[in-house]
Amino acid sequence: MSDCIFCAIVDGDIPGRIVHETDHSLAFLDANPLAPGHTLVVPKEHHARLDEVPADAAADLFAAVNDLVPRVEAAVDADATNIGINNGPAAGQEVDHVHVHIVPRFEGDGGSPIHAVAGERPDLSDEELADIEAAISG
Ligand code: AMP
Ligand code: ZN
Repeated sequence: MSDCIFCAIVDGDIPGRIVHETDHSLAFLDANPLAPGHTLVVPKEHHARLDEVPADAAADLFAAVNDLVPRVEAAVDADATNIGINNGPAAGQEVDHVHVHIVPRFEGDGGSPIHAVAGERPDLSDEELADIEAAISG
């Protein structure tokens, strides 16, 4: 049995409320949902971070997310969804197996947009922005 709880769900060693399966991906309900319908979509193969997922599995993962979002919204009569990955412990990742959160949202639910996840906003100069642009562009 795997040490990883999501590998254990993929392998059928522990139960999960499975809502979708493809060759490379599995989706199941979050055990501690932030909203009704909160769904996790994982690559079947264990990878800790998104950039470690091979391109074909990543494409399958996001195709599964794309398929699921309207189904999740319809199932719980949601008005919208937040879709996100906590990619690394500093970003709040607790289970070190890549997972995409699909969190249904409802008008007036008191939640926040994804902009609320980071700390204090930086006040970057044009030079700093140019340096970052160059560093990412490579
Ligand atoms: P994260 O902080 O992004 O790593 O989120 C991990 C998520 O996994 C949390 O939302 C947990 O509620 C969820 N979770 C933990 N264990 C299980 C489980 N056995 N089945 C389904 N979801 C789980
Ligand atoms: Zn795993």
